[in-house]
Amino acid sequence: MEYQAKELFAKHDVPVTLGTVVEKAEDARAAAEQLGGRVVVKAQVKVGGRGKAGGVKLAENPDEAVARAEDILGMDIKGHTVHRVLVAPTADIAEEYYFSFLVDRANRNYLCIASIEGGVEIEEVARTNPDAVAKVSIDPQAGVDDAKAAEIVAATRFPAEVADEAKEVVKKLWTVFLAEDASLVEVNPLVRLGDGHLEALDGKVTLDENADFRHADHAAFEDTAAADPLEAQAKEKNLNYVKLDGEVGIIGNGAGLVMSTLDVVAYAGEQHGGVKPANFLDIGGGASAEVMANGLHIILGDPQVKSVFVNVFGGITACDAVANGIVHALELLGEEANKPLVVRLDGNNVVEGRRILVDANHPLVTLVDTMDGAADRAAELAK
Ligand code: GDP
Ligand code: MN
Repeated sequence: MEYQAKELFAKHDVPVTLGTVVEKAEDARAAAEQLGGRVVVKAQVKVGGRGKAGGVKLAENPDEAVARAEDILGMDIKGHTVHRVLVAPTADIAEEYYFSFLVDRANRNYLCIASIEGGVEIEEVARTNPDAVAKVSIDPQAGVDDAKAAEIVAATRFPAEVADEAKEVVKKLWTVFLAEDASLVEVNPLVRLGDGHLEALDGKVTLDENADFRHADHAAFEDTAAADPLEAQAKEKNLNYVKLDGEVGIIGNGAGLVMSTLDVVAYAGEQHGGVKPANFLDIGGGASAEVMANGLHIILGDPQVKSVFVNVFGGITACDAVANGIVHALELLGEEANKPLVVRLDGNNVVEGRRILVDANHPLVTLVDTMDGAADRAAELAK
């Protein structure tokens, strides 16, 4: 959210005004009083275009700040409910610029995109006047040094009177990008104030989760209230789970196999009244009883689920270990395991794995040899 991005900006000396975040409209009064009366009230949601949606409003005094906060709190902006607003001093805006650093995957590079025609119409500018949008590639080894910052400022055609300060801001934003392990740092608008100085008036930062281990402070940025409760539970158990909107629960090992499983289930589901996969869940390489039980626990916690398809290819973890994992997981879950399970095992030690499941003879488990056959059976059971 904007206020969080601004906290990161402030940490690296990018010029920002932090303001105060409130969740109750009445609290906007004290915030506005403290900031001198005239303020801007801004919806804090993880989506752009708040200004156009009416989520950014100016207030002349504390009473108006409360009224504007009342207008904005609870608003729905592109499917995001506003639970908090940022109350910040109004900026005296002379010009609005657009600035961003991002990962340029196609070129295996970083990229800076910037324009002196920033503000709420930047997409329009990019479409109708692409020459006004500068794109400068950044060698990941070299990063943004003085020369690169100067190149960016020249390519963007920042006005001469802000050029020197712009170089400094560019370098500081690069520090945010690099030091915080971001995959996107976007400022729109970066404004030239009436006094000639620059300020980041908005901010959007995407952080790379893979680097969380070296950023303990990033956990605080997560919007746990907005997260799906099952996804939050899965994350706690280190499971790669994504909730979807169907009836067939899916467990597999390896992201590629699970993705294909979603496809075959969706395809098979067409023959059974249009049932669909209920989730993505990759239990990874080690399909121990505990991991299997954790996975089943999450999936069975989804009331929409009517059947579960366990699709495992035995590699390093052989099929017999997986089969034992399934049997023990069902023991661990006891009464909680109450939906039919279709299991397809293949790969390393498959004969032994299937024998274990046949011997266990669990009333909920159906063993099917092929992936297509198992998908069809799971979809049929879900219907
Ligand atoms: P977005 O629409 O979600 O990108 O939200 P922004 O934070 O970018 O705000 C949208 C627009 O509101 C900006 O482009 C500015 O024109 C305007 N705005 C934001 N803050 C202020 C402020 O403090 N003073 C004034 N006058 N305008 C502001
Ligand atoms: Mn913006």
